Amino acid sequence: MPELPEVEVVRRGLEPQLLGQTIRGIDIRQPQLRWPVPAELRHCLPGQRILSLERRSKYLLIEVTAGWLIVHLGMTGSLIWQQGGGAEQTAFSNTGRMPQHDHVVLHLDGARLVYNDPRRFGAMLWHARSAGPVSAFSLFKTLGAEPFSQAFTPGLLHKASRGRKVSIKQFLLSGMAVVGVGNIYCSEALFRARLRPTRAAGRLTLRQAEALHQEIRATLAEAIAKGGSTLRDFVNSDGQAGYFQLDYFVYGREGEPCRLCGTPVRQVRQQQRSTFFCPHCQP
Ligand SMILES: [Zn+2]
Repeated sequence: MPELPEVEVVRRGLEPQLLGQTIRGIDIRQPQLRWPVPAELRHCLPGQRILSLERRSKYLLIEVTAGWLIVHLGMTGSLIWQQGGGAEQTAFSNTGRMPQHDHVVLHLDGARLVYNDPRRFGAMLWHARSAGPVSAFSLFKTLGAEPFSQAFTPGLLHKASRGRKVSIKQFLLSGMAVVGVGNIYCSEALFRARLRPTRAAGRLTLRQAEALHQEIRATLAEAIAKGGSTLRDFVNSDGQAGYFQLDYFVYGREGEPCRLCGTPVRQVRQQQRSTFFCPHCQP
């Protein structure tokens, strides 16, 4: 499943292609994604110029004059950029992409942007400019702060954790304080901040919140710099698959020696999700 760094990598890859393009048409071949693809896109989008490509949490926001086309890749979604009649192709793709899962196609000037999603947990939605800023979009109202925004501070993290009896891992995964700390990056950030994932969120001190804040940003920034770690086969226009895998401190390393102290890394299950930690470094 793409996490925030992967979505940011997709955004950075697509931005130079999309900016300034005019949408000529849209084919909605399969509207049944996680939510129905709005039929109004067929008349909202043609003739619209693409003004920006931004990201909010794991949603991509394609801004046009009339509003925002909001895209979520779900579990298995990918975006494919096709130029020159499909001869030249850049895929942000899963292994073995099959054309029958090409659900939505945006026609641009001499290029196409294809949304492919075998399991159809992704989404393609619309927020009209007449309905206000995109931050007012219903799905965005309850999201926590963006990890690289000024709004995300150690104080905010500390304040949001007050009185919370859930584990610090669950608290971070909920996205209520900060978005984008998915399962992999949660284990890694907690290791780097030397915090036991099972500790109650409400016990986090301000000093620990400062360390955690710093390590969340550092972990995500490194993953983005390496091109995302779970988008395994980002295929570039030469058709070459680029494998991106971080050297994790603890994630997926149960029983292997901690990179700092040599103690075997431990794995626990928290709400059906695997958590990895070093019992020595994370007291
Ligand atoms: Zn250790």
